[in-house]
Amino acid sequence: MSEPVTVTFLGGLGEIGRNCAAIEIDDRIMLLDCGLMFPDADMLGIDLVLPDFDYLYDRADRIEGCIVTHGHEDHMGGLSFLLRELSFPIIGSALALGLARNRIEEAGLLGRTEFIAVADNERRQFGPFDCEFIPVTHSVPHGFATAFHTPQGTILHSGDFKLDLNPVDGRRTDLATMGAIAKGEGIRLLLSDSTNACEHGHSRSETSVGKVLFDVFHANEGRRIITACFASHIHRVQQIADAAISFDRVIATLGRSMKNNVQLARDMGLLDIPDSRLRDIKDVADLPPGKVCVISTGSQGEPMSALTLMAANESRWLKLTEDDTVILSSHPIPGNEMNVSKVLDGLARLGVEVIHSGIEDVHASGHAKAEELKTLISLTQPEWFTPVHGEYRHLVAHAGLARQMGVADDHVTVCEDGDQLVITDQGIRRGDSVPAGYLYVDGSGVGDIGHGVLRDRRVLAEDGIVVVLVTVDLTGAAVVGEPEVITKGWVHETDSMDLIDGCSAAVHKGLDKALASAKRSDLEALQQTVRRAAGTFVKERTRRRPMIVPVVIEV
Ligand SMILES: [Zn+2]
Ligand SMILES: [Zn+2]
Repeated sequence: MSEPVTVTFLGGLGEIGRNCAAIEIDDRIMLLDCGLMFPDADMLGIDLVLPDFDYLYDRADRIEGCIVTHGHEDHMGGLSFLLRELSFPIIGSALALGLARNRIEEAGLLGRTEFIAVADNERRQFGPFDCEFIPVTHSVPHGFATAFHTPQGTILHSGDFKLDLNPVDGRRTDLATMGAIAKGEGIRLLLSDSTNACEHGHSRSETSVGKVLFDVFHANEGRRIITACFASHIHRVQQIADAAISFDRVIATLGRSMKNNVQLARDMGLLDIPDSRLRDIKDVADLPPGKVCVISTGSQGEPMSALTLMAANESRWLKLTEDDTVILSSHPIPGNEMNVSKVLDGLARLGVEVIHSGIEDVHASGHAKAEELKTLISLTQPEWFTPVHGEYRHLVAHAGLARQMGVADDHVTVCEDGDQLVITDQGIRRGDSVPAGYLYVDGSGVGDIGHGVLRDRRVLAEDGIVVVLVTVDLTGAAVVGEPEVITKGWVHETDSMDLIDGCSAAVHKGLDKALASAKRSDLEALQQTVRRAAGTFVKERTRRRPMIVPVVIEV
């Protein structure tokens, strides 16, 4: 009889982002990623969304550490918030730690953690956790799958991965090691990346993008080229730089994260761009256009990013014209499509020639598609399977692939955020549900905004606000003067005086009636009367539902 092992999903199952899971052995907790999510358009004013940390706050003294599988924000961007309350070491590849470090340092939290770098194929013990770090290929270098060798068998977490047989750095997803574990001790539970489970076939190799970039640079000789990609996509940056150098261009980075990451990757020997080829962005405006390649941030159309500013003709560094070619070496992640469209429109207005993945194959996904996912399942032959990292339909599709690959129907468990798996000698069952709602970040506040505030913001955004100020004489049971109606966002006050006056009259009438009939009128009841009278008038006359704020004052 071995002790049960539990896996609790705190984020990332049901959305792309805020990946976070807690694995528990012997009352100790190992976190597996702690990411953030960018808000949907309907989360008005929200900057970021985090996993619900309540489960962890309640178990603060039991946390052994956090493994970051790779250096993407959806896997480590939540750490600088969780470390405000808790203290624990962070474990990952040297690059993932380097990328995570910046934000933690900015937040002044370096003292609350310790960075523990682990190497490819290293097997290491942290408290009761026997972890093996297995190389995987992804859109940031040095990603890991993690094998947890537990008293309840081996849990294999794929991390974000693809099966690229020709990666830029030659570091392929280590199928041999995964296969050996499967053949040896066996895989009790496989948790695997579902992002592209609805996409048929195989993802394209990253090196195939390099060939396309070379052709695009060839076709655009003599023109200035501005490229945009994720700042963490070091292999893409390398391939852009290689293409630029083969056409005798110098390279300038634009955007803070691009500059920082290029520096970090060069320092770590992961990016090869000779000093002689790098220029500061302030020194390239006057060079011949055909001699310049700019590598910029903003491929997701993020507000205030370098590319967005260039598209709006507001960049302090570059003015784009019909003599420029922009290559968007990216694909919008869900939620960013609108922003990217705006950038494309802005560039079109400036007459810029734009090449994106819909025109040429200047991008390849970093996530395995259906055939690759099937390969991993077939190779690892897991006894149990749970899809992770995806929206709900991706999880369901991935579960279907696992059944196709022979995992028993009742051993495929689709979980969502807040679900817990309990692994025992008898099998795997669902445990308790834990809190796993969205934790919103707005400005400096974390968690102080809930659904109520967001609902108010939505009402204000859609229909505006109507404030009704009334003075009443309770002893004389009469309204003093006329109710004053002030609005923002319902109608234009000065252009719609008839509506404003009508609303005032409707409130007055309602109050007269209430004051005459009531045995006892209190301010709270009168506020209700004002809200109802104004609300009914507004709805009947304009079919709108602004927020009504009654203010009743007693003389
Ligand atoms: Zn990733
Ligand atoms: Zn991810």
